[in-house]
Amino acid sequence: MAPAISTIRTVTGMRRRVAQWRNEGHRVALVPTMGALHDGHLSLVAKAKDEGADKVIVSIFVNPTQFGAGEDFDAYPRDEKGDLAKLTEAGVDVAYVPDAKQMFAPGFATRVHVKGLTEGLCGASRPGHFDGVTTIVAKLLLQCAPDFAVFGEKDYQQLLAIKRMVADLDIPAEIVGAAIVRDEDGLARSSRNAYLSRMQRELAPLLHRTLQDMAYDLGEGRPIGDAIAASKFRLESAGFKVDYLEVVDPKTLQPVDGLLEGPARALVAAFLGKTRLIDNIALKPKQRQRDRKSKDEAPE
Ligand code: AMP
Repeated sequence: MAPAISTIRTVTGMRRRVAQWRNEGHRVALVPTMGALHDGHLSLVAKAKDEGADKVIVSIFVNPTQFGAGEDFDAYPRDEKGDLAKLTEAGVDVAYVPDAKQMFAPGFATRVHVKGLTEGLCGASRPGHFDGVTTIVAKLLLQCAPDFAVFGEKDYQQLLAIKRMVADLDIPAEIVGAAIVRDEDGLARSSRNAYLSRMQRELAPLLHRTLQDMAYDLGEGRPIGDAIAASKFRLESAGFKVDYLEVVDPKTLQPVDGLLEGPARALVAAFLGKTRLIDNIALKPKQRQRDRKSKDEAPE
């Protein structure tokens, strides 16, 4: 059995450990999470190692400031023992598990706000959510001082907002994105999937299938507005309540209209009962898909 993972719960302890690693010349990666770990999280650890990390820190902090009033902060799944076992198995060097006292000193009064990127999509339906995320991620980056940090494309808007923040604040860490990990039936892995009833779980993969079909239709030249309306109708008819479904520029997150003429991204958030699921997919314009098809068909 692998030796139990080293768990650090204080900012000073974390700083000391990273300083020691730096003296030894190690390249350090951070993977921030809220725990209730699954294969999606563990894929970020694998990505960190692929990208050349000698030492990997996984932070676990259920961040109260990114949950709105009436959201699931109290009910959010917590399983520290199970998480530490998974991280040990994955060969993670340190689990950084600060509590709220470590994170919020008395009189804490600072918020990090990224304008623009955080205003639409999840930002529109969850006011204050991204300020909570960027504030805590800024703190984790300053506390752990990694060479780079890995975030999932599952939270695509979050990934872009964090890249913006790190560039704007000159935080000396590279931000690396990692592909979405899915169950076999296509449902993106999420700690919140645990809330789904058996029937809801059976229905849930339709979210990804709808995005895939939309990507195909848009590639074939279907107008964006038309494809969005049809996809929303499909999801709502099956029992989802769609929060948003948008086609946006993959860098600015501004809505794209008309026909797909360059790379774009479709992002969706939809409720199954009380559970809010999110997903997204890369979109490629028709011309490129055609080009690729004719290249694939061309004789050697
Ligand atoms: P969370 O614990 O939900 O805050 O997620 C922590 C990190 O794991 C974030 O960077 C997420 O984007 C990433 N993540 C969560 N689910 C997945 C998934 N299914 N595939 C890839 N990354 C994920």
